[in-house]
Amino acid sequence: MTKLDELDLKLIYLLMDNSRLSISELAERLSVSRPTVKTRLEKLEKEGIIQRYTIKLHPELQKAHNVVALIIKTDKPEKLREFEEIIEINRFTSKKYLIKVAVEDMEGLRNVIEGAGFEVLEIMPILESIEKEHPPKVKVPFKCDYCGKEIVDEPIVYKYRNRVYFFCCPTCLREFKRTRENIEKLKLKEHEIEHSHEHHKH
Ligand SMILES: [Zn+2]
Repeated sequence: MTKLDELDLKLIYLLMDNSRLSISELAERLSVSRPTVKTRLEKLEKEGIIQRYTIKLHPELQKAHNVVALIIKTDKPEKLREFEEIIEINRFTSKKYLIKVAVEDMEGLRNVIEGAGFEVLEIMPILESIEKEHPPKVKVPFKCDYCGKEIVDEPIVYKYRNRVYFFCCPTCLREFKRTRENIEKLKLKEHEIEHSHEHHKH
């Protein structure tokens, strides 16, 4: 796999949040030129780092099914891939699997079990699935956006006003936030002063 750099990683974080951002928007948020963004995206796509741009549906739309977890034994694991009701396949040993099946009812489940021909060792309904975000697991040399130190490790990621910032440590993040707050308070004050001036003119 190709080496990614800080810019690639920031691009990935922005697109993970919103894959519909345009090249112009990405360029602005990363403070780089549009051709730079375009070249980077082409590289990430060509090398299969970005495999596709997808959407996130409202959970209600995906609730039409009952999801059941099954621990099974099978001699024909390839069969499991043939059923679109089987939404997840995890292998324990050469014959033992944990699979998740989404079906409307018991009959649907029976059809999958008979069709795929596996032996059910255990069966558990899944009441709730909590989806976690998976940040990219890559080691990228990055510069801390607060102190400027260069580090190869997992950065602390902070999203603020449509931008992505990387920090080396919690202290830098805290200081960055404090500085931001101060700048904002200052801006607010300037704004108030401007307004009071306008007021005086009238
Ligand atoms: Zn730092």
